[in-house]
Amino acid sequence: MVIAQLLINVFHLINRFLATEGGELLKIFLELILFTIVTYMIISEYGRSKKENLKYLMLGFSALMIDKLIMTGVLCIIVFGQVKLYLLSPYLPILDNTLELFALILLANGFIYPVFADKFEKFKKKVSLELGVLVFIAIIIEVFWLLKLAANPTAFFRVEVGYLFFLLLKILVLFSPVFYILKDFNKAGKYATEVVIAFLIYMVAPIMNVINFVFFNSVDGDLRIIAHPFPFLSILLFTSIIFLKLVDKATLRVRLGQAKQQYIHEKELGEMKDDFVSTVSHELRTPLTSIKLYLALLKQGKAGKLSRKQSGMIKIVEDESTRLKGLIEDILGLSKLEAKKVRLKIEEFDLSKLIKDNLYSTVAEEKGLKVINNIPKKFFVRADINKFKQVFINIFHNAEKYATSKITLTAKNLKKEWLFCIEDDGPGIEKDHLEKLFDKFYRIEDYRTSSKSGTGLGLAIVKHIVELHKGTITVESLPKKGTRFIVTLPK
Ligand code: ADP
Repeated sequence: MVIAQLLINVFHLINRFLATEGGELLKIFLELILFTIVTYMIISEYGRSKKENLKYLMLGFSALMIDKLIMTGVLCIIVFGQVKLYLLSPYLPILDNTLELFALILLANGFIYPVFADKFEKFKKKVSLELGVLVFIAIIIEVFWLLKLAANPTAFFRVEVGYLFFLLLKILVLFSPVFYILKDFNKAGKYATEVVIAFLIYMVAPIMNVINFVFFNSVDGDLRIIAHPFPFLSILLFTSIIFLKLVDKATLRVRLGQAKQQYIHEKELGEMKDDFVSTVSHELRTPLTSIKLYLALLKQGKAGKLSRKQSGMIKIVEDESTRLKGLIEDILGLSKLEAKKVRLKIEEFDLSKLIKDNLYSTVAEEKGLKVINNIPKKFFVRADINKFKQVFINIFHNAEKYATSKITLTAKNLKKEWLFCIEDDGPGIEKDHLEKLFDKFYRIEDYRTSSKSGTGLGLAIVKHIVELHKGTITVESLPKKGTRFIVTLPK
């Protein structure tokens, strides 16, 4: 209880001290140091990032700094030079209030900038208009004040209507960011709540001064004393917000630097891998061509007549080497697509003809599959014909592998795109696998135990080709019902 009373007394003592000229000098000097540090921090950040909102904050804090610099000088003269304030009174009160308002307008706009981010021109006009109105009002108040001083040299600015105007303007300027931030809170950035609180705290002082003006003719000492610390507290809060914002930015910059470094490293690794893959694949192609050539010679009996058993074995070797060739082609093709070394040759062609020419397949025949081709005749699309053929073959061969009785092909000419579907009535694909289906080497079945051959590269190639055309590929599948691949090509 005693300690609480003591603290209250100390608080009152400090407040009273702050309301004296010496106390005011101390407070303003502290503010000057604070603003100089913050202005320096913002200027150096603005130099780096050139962000528009920093410009407003920078100008705002600079204006506050200049205001405090002038006021520190003036108070030094008053406190140490024993000069009376009224000698400076023709310009000082208006200059002080105008500079403070000028700074508050810029600060308020600096903090609400994110809310206006997409309406920048409107925002700029708003700031210019506010500053223009302020200067206009300040000039009018100055003129009236000079007239008043001419009539009565000991007049007191705090009882003038001009002062009331300044107070009301301050309340308005301080309220505007609160309004804009609360209206669009989600857009207002990370420290929106703190900014609102800081503006509200600042607002307490002009509100109290208005009460003092209206009810006590601005002479109530206690009200003035109580009002004093609020702007200072608010400024402390603003400073900490700015500090936190700048720290956030610095951390972000460090992270960005690290991410960039990692990206460059991964890109280099990727390029090395691509080079490696394409070199190895090329090297594998040459012996494979020889193997195929000698197999053909063996089959033709150039090394003597073959027994049935030998022919059977050679057939297996031939099939496997064909598979190996397919795999090498796929790897090479995919690495070229991934390295973006592929150029499209876009031309107009008849999709129905392309499909018809490539529809014949022994697999479908052996499995007795019914292929229902619903693609309209003379269905012209624009794409790279060879690449699109590969898209069709890769999806169609999968459908053949999995379909139980039929495969349906459809195409639609939509407003902005061509749509092409291949649907089978096979076992379908579980939901968990769907999103990974287009990853390279992704296969649902285990290749060691599955009867279905494949490499897991077909759909990855398809996706790359479709995306190169700026089209899309999607898959819809229901287990036990079937699978549908949908390709769209933009017109
Ligand atoms: P693969 O060469 O192994 O067929 P893909 O990339 O073409 O490689 O396909 C990846 C995997 O997607 C296949 O292993 C298969 O499990 C699954 N898949 C593709 N098409 C179908 C389909 N129509 N029905 C069921 N599963 C399919």
